[in-house]
Amino acid sequence: MNDPTAGQPRWPAPTEGRPTGPVFADLGPAVVDLMAGRRLVVVSGAGCSTDSGIPDYRGEGTRRRARRPVQYREFVARPEARQRYWARAYLGWPRFRRAGPNPAHRALARLEAAGAVAGVITQNVDRLHHAAGSQRVVELHGALAEVVCLDCGALETRDGLQARLHELNPSWHVTGAEMAPDGDADLEGDAFRSFRRADCRACGGPLKPNVVFFGENVPRSRSEAAWTLWDQAEVLLVVGSSLAVLSGYRFIKKAAGRGLPVVIVNRGPTRGDAEATVRIDAGLGDVLPRLADALIPGGRWSPANAESPDTVAT
Ligand SMILES: [Zn+2]
Repeated sequence: MNDPTAGQPRWPAPTEGRPTGPVFADLGPAVVDLMAGRRLVVVSGAGCSTDSGIPDYRGEGTRRRARRPVQYREFVARPEARQRYWARAYLGWPRFRRAGPNPAHRALARLEAAGAVAGVITQNVDRLHHAAGSQRVVELHGALAEVVCLDCGALETRDGLQARLHELNPSWHVTGAEMAPDGDADLEGDAFRSFRRADCRACGGPLKPNVVFFGENVPRSRSEAAWTLWDQAEVLLVVGSSLAVLSGYRFIKKAAGRGLPVVIVNRGPTRGDAEATVRIDAGLGDVLPRLADALIPGGRWSPANAESPDTVAT
């Protein structure tokens, strides 16, 4: 996903007059109690996939990697922008598609299979929740595994397009391009100019990855599917998102307005801290498997044997 907030001011710090819930350094009994026996709906973000090797926008090292995201309007209007995008995407795709689910994805899939999680609303475009076995996933921002024609709307798999791009560019190669968010790759200079784009097989129109770009709205059908799922929540569980993007933050804001408990598990503060009932400032790969153990009957972990229950983060 591109970052619609790049270059914009950050949200006010929690200390600027807004109360915040407690912040814990680890999972403990109070947080488990809050979720036990209640139907969870998960909102997941990029932090869920960093352990799978997919770069985050705002995690450690983000500033170093920060770059100007592709703008929807520019992508549609300028063939050169599409050529640059597809050259970079062509380089980035093989590594992106090799990424597999990590313990955080698998824990959420286990919780869904056990009936504790109703589904996942994800801001991620990597399909790793599906790969882990999650059944009900709303991909708010689409998926890079699909390509859509801007003229006729025909869909093609990204793998299929990759094969066509390879046929068009048999000897085109750039070494040293660093993997970037979006399954993209950093590609400097004019190397992209010799890259040949592929067009829609049905109508010859321009192709776009089937993800929401900066300056583009979430399609109504997807937004409605997300709200339908949200409506089933008895607790909203936010994992690995700083909630900087409004398309994710609005679920938390509305949950708080309705009085639903909101639990955020994320490294570092988030835009939703003021709305959170509690935040756990810790890694997902560590917390979510133990949460699944605690919430699934017969699980191995219980708050009673937690080493540092509800430790307040310093
Ligand atoms: Zn077409």
